Amino acid sequence: MEKISVAVRFRPSIAEETAGERQWRIEDNRISLYKPLGTPISGISFAFDHVFEHSSTNASVYDILIKSIIHAAINGFNGTAFAYGQTSSGKTFTMNGSQLDPGIIPQAVRDIFDTTHMITDREFLVRVSYMEIYNEEINDLLSLGNQRLPVHENLERGVYVAGLREEIVNSADQVLELIKLGEANRHVGETNMNVRSSRSHTIFRMVIESSAKDSTSSVDAIRVSVLNLVDLAGSERIAKTGAGGVRLKEGKHINKSLMILGNVINKLSENGKHRAHIPYRDSKLTRILQPALGGNAKTSIICTVAPEEVHIEETKGTLQFASRAKSITNCAQVNEVLTDAALLKRQKQEIEELRRKLQGQHSEVLEQVILKQRNDMHKSELEREKLAMELEEERKSRQALEHHMGEQQRRIDYLNELLASNEARKVIQGTIHTHSSHEEMNSSNCMSQGNTFTTPILKGMPDQFVVKRSNYSKAFDASPLPENFMNIANGDLWLQLNKGFRTDLDALQMTPNIKYGAAHSNDTSIGTDLEEWNTKERCLNLASECRLHALQVDALKEQYDMLERKYSQLREENSSLVQTLSYSNHDVVLLKAQKDELQKDLNYEREKMRDLKEGIRLFGLAFAERECLLNSLYSKSKAMIEKFSSSQIIYDN
Ligand code: ADP
Ligand code: MG
Repeated sequence: MEKISVAVRFRPSIAEETAGERQWRIEDNRISLYKPLGTPISGISFAFDHVFEHSSTNASVYDILIKSIIHAAINGFNGTAFAYGQTSSGKTFTMNGSQLDPGIIPQAVRDIFDTTHMITDREFLVRVSYMEIYNEEINDLLSLGNQRLPVHENLERGVYVAGLREEIVNSADQVLELIKLGEANRHVGETNMNVRSSRSHTIFRMVIESSAKDSTSSVDAIRVSVLNLVDLAGSERIAKTGAGGVRLKEGKHINKSLMILGNVINKLSENGKHRAHIPYRDSKLTRILQPALGGNAKTSIICTVAPEEVHIEETKGTLQFASRAKSITNCAQVNEVLTDAALLKRQKQEIEELRRKLQGQHSEVLEQVILKQRNDMHKSELEREKLAMELEEERKSRQALEHHMGEQQRRIDYLNELLASNEARKVIQGTIHTHSSHEEMNSSNCMSQGNTFTTPILKGMPDQFVVKRSNYSKAFDASPLPENFMNIANGDLWLQLNKGFRTDLDALQMTPNIKYGAAHSNDTSIGTDLEEWNTKERCLNLASECRLHALQVDALKEQYDMLERKYSQLREENSSLVQTLSYSNHDVVLLKAQKDELQKDLNYEREKMRDLKEGIRLFGLAFAERECLLNSLYSKSKAMIEKFSSSQIIYDN
């Protein structure tokens, strides 16, 4: 068990300080509010693990608060760091930073690659995703087509966002390019507080897997850790931001999810033993951050605050949030996975095969080919997962519709039976009427009209008839007004009956109104007619509803078929991709053989050239020797000629 580490960071003041204002003062790790005259205000003083003054840099925040989490993540611990604070207090500056002072995210990315490159006895596989929660919907920032993604949970993967694009990466620059792409897709709007105020919570996620390099055993565990770096949208007071329309709606969503985050923190900070239910499921943000809050993760929270007097209330709120957060304990442990849940394990065989085939290639080229292969495999896996999810949803909604249709059918059957029983009753009443008019016109025994079913003749009816009769036939006898439907029909049926049929109900009210006064009169056929008419009307409504549902089922079936077609198409594409890959592997082998041939030719040519050079050198030497000889011959003969001509002259004289 370890406590979440919480730090507070002040951003530089934007407004000029004026005398006569209350002020925040920092002494070591304590923040206190002072009156204008320099006396502390009692009860407003907070202590934290670290307090960063306005002049602090992102580099120091990283070194002191975040670095240890990043290194733990490399070693298999889940990690989360998030910035919390009011709008314009410096959350995005802390997470992203500037060109001169890179924030936590770029520093973490560089640190991860620098560190993993130095660990030579383990193989690492890093993948990244980037999402935002905007108006309580999860959108993929790396793929614009992935919107409104659902949160799922299972034993192997824990809580995860289904359908999110994940990119396998092998360099910091590659990740920073992806972040740039994601940033461009992020929702930002203009409020009075901050020109580029972030309107969404963003979660940059890195999954780091690693396995021992020299391991030959197939049952070796793979370490898998998830690192979340979160830039929350700022809490805001609507009056202060001047937001309206879309901005107002966003603001409400932001405030609501931050309030739920506050609730979760409050509940977690309560005495551990009496911890109540933790409302993680109340918002997408808390659901995704669940492991980071009281779960299996190392967590740091950086609470950013604005120093100006005008923001004192918000700053106080942030400091109170931070105070509660620092009492939360987490229970982080190294995550070791033996199953196929680790991507390194799932891809092991194919990648080893590829490595074998490409042996002897330049290592950089090899790594690029492997990276591409890994991403292709992971992409088709995600596609399959997404399709399976869509199919499952279709199946569920189809089941629900079929169930609903079955219910409707049962109701129709019931109403049909009701109709049939009404017919029977009419016949019986006709008999009673004839009987009484002929024999006992004034007899109270047979004509207690307010209670038709208690007549001696009806009492004699078989049980089945009584069971099938309407529950509310008695109530109809008293009053057929719509108000009475409220008490007799169940809510569901009542809603269906009311939907779109108000005029009919009005008509219902008009006609029987005349009869309402005579509800206790001797005319029993009024209630019966009305009931029959009403039953028929309901039958018609239900039948038309059934037709509508049948149409919906057809449309869903079509959609289902289409998805199935798409699924099999993707499977085909996948297998053709695998085939192409095997072709290209074959090509690689051929090319390698060609290369070896060429290399041999080249070596032969080189040798020939060496021989030629040697020949030239020997020829040169021989040539020089001959030249020397000739020169000496020439000089000898020249000397002889000169000697001869001088002796000739002497002889002539
Ligand atoms: P938030 O994300 O909390 O709404 P921002 O990070 O966008 O706020 O900060 C608002 C403004 O304040 C930005 O212009 C940012 O550059 C500046 N700022 C925030 N914190 C610092 C800091 N520590 N040092 C320098 N400038 C800062
Ligand atoms: Mg921001």
